Amino acid sequence: MNTILFSKKVEVRYQAQVVVVGGGPSGFCAAVAAARAGADTLLIEEGGCAGGMATRGLVGPFMTSYDKDGKQMIIRGLFEELVNRMVMCGGAIHPEGVRAGTAFTSWIVLGHDHVTPFEPECLKIVMDEMLAEAGVRVLYHTRFVEPVVQDGTIRQIIIDSKAGLEAVSADVFIDCTGDADVAYRAGVPCEKGNEELGLIQPASLFFRIGNVRLAPLEADIVAHKDQFYRKDGVNYRSLHWRVTEAREHGDWPLQRVSIGLFRGVKEDEWFINTSRVMGVDATDNQSLTRGEIEGRKQVEIIFNFFRKYVPGCEDARLLCSASTLGIRESRHVKGLYRLMTDDLLEGKVPSDSICLASNSVDVHGRFGPLSNQYAAIRNGRWYGIPYRCLVPERIDNLLVAGRCVSAESDAAGAIRVMPPSTAMGQAAGQAAAMAVQQRLAVSDVSVSELQQKLREQGAFLEV
Ligand SMILES: Cc1cc2nc3c(=O)[nH]c(=O)nc-3n(C[C@H](O)[C@H](O)[C@H](O)COP(=O)(O)OP(=O)(O)OC[C@H]3O[C@@H](n4cnc5c(N)ncnc54)[C@H](O)[C@@H]3O)c2cc1C
Repeated sequence: MNTILFSKKVEVRYQAQVVVVGGGPSGFCAAVAAARAGADTLLIEEGGCAGGMATRGLVGPFMTSYDKDGKQMIIRGLFEELVNRMVMCGGAIHPEGVRAGTAFTSWIVLGHDHVTPFEPECLKIVMDEMLAEAGVRVLYHTRFVEPVVQDGTIRQIIIDSKAGLEAVSADVFIDCTGDADVAYRAGVPCEKGNEELGLIQPASLFFRIGNVRLAPLEADIVAHKDQFYRKDGVNYRSLHWRVTEAREHGDWPLQRVSIGLFRGVKEDEWFINTSRVMGVDATDNQSLTRGEIEGRKQVEIIFNFFRKYVPGCEDARLLCSASTLGIRESRHVKGLYRLMTDDLLEGKVPSDSICLASNSVDVHGRFGPLSNQYAAIRNGRWYGIPYRCLVPERIDNLLVAGRCVSAESDAAGAIRVMPPSTAMGQAAGQAAAMAVQQRLAVSDVSVSELQQKLREQGAFLEV
């Protein structure tokens, strides 16, 4: 390999007590929580808005924030505040009234009770407002490049933007990049996908369609409901009868056999989660480029399919495709504890849990179109995510939150969804502020004090 040595003096342009890298659901909550806890906080985000997959990725709805039986909202705190603020602006439907087996869940029942449909445009604005109110300094259009590590501590990070390369120093860093960019480059051991199987979850490019007539679409689904394909107790396969028809007419070259379609806040606007790009490595720009191009091709095919074959969609309009490919899985950091799939299926709540969740293991077609794997909790109504999963090995002033926390691949397939990501972010932000204020390594933060503070902030935490 041809290599060069590159070195450059850069200005330490920013200083903060807590720096959060990545402004998705986890990073947004980490930044707000750290700032509300009194830490001078800087958020660094490569896109032009907060929200990550929820905004630029057009991913929705927020998966369930309720317990397994759908009786009680268990992911609360900042997530609930965000939802309530959006509901007030008409930009979300409160999950209390959104039930499984409906247009809001692509008619899936198991694990899909009380999801939260929301408007990504409203989310962008509400997130900007909450960041500003909390006093978070925000740098959009800014990308983390490299950490400067000394004796197991990150002293600075190098960022890149239109202003060029600059350095940021802070006491504690929180990696919310989804891909563990900060942790990996700081030397934290990471696993990519499921290394035992040599597989990674497929990527998808979401898109939104408008001008859909709900009544004929719903009538078609209801008329075929008994034909849904069931696997692992899940009634997948909306519109597979229409996909079959399109395939017979040569209009469906894709491998997928059915459609994931989720009604948005407005009844004529739908989020389509159907494209599937296999083998995308989100840590490789060539692979991402191939994924984006392939995803767009699939979006065109699927959109044309809607107009031609799906009742109620004859005059549908393509509102937009996501501005970034949806990545379900990339790196998982090695932390002080690795969350195991059995831990969550058995409903374990370790004593250092920083949030509770009930989301099921949801592994999308790693082996091909009919190979989805879904597993709901077997015991109890929820499981806990331990603080140790947020504390990576080897670096004493780094926390991680969201998709890339320490978990085996299938367990990550449950906790990666947005509500638990927000709760992990809130815990990481609060813990980072405590570490700064008490001059502690993040691993030495008192978990019982952290749990108490999270409860005071509205988190539901029965440990
Ligand atoms: C196709 C698909 C469907 C899904 N369906 C659902 C669903 O229906 N419901 C649900 O609740 N969840 C769903 N999820 C899961 C969910 O969207 C994500 O797992 C969740 O958003 C994770 O949050 P996060 O904050 O960890 O990461 P992200 O949302 O990915 O946010 C990471 C942020 O970090 C920024 N970033 C990354 N690297 C850098 C860098 N080097 N420098 C600066 N910024 C950086 C990114 O721009 C981004 O804003 C789905 C995901 C996918 C991909």
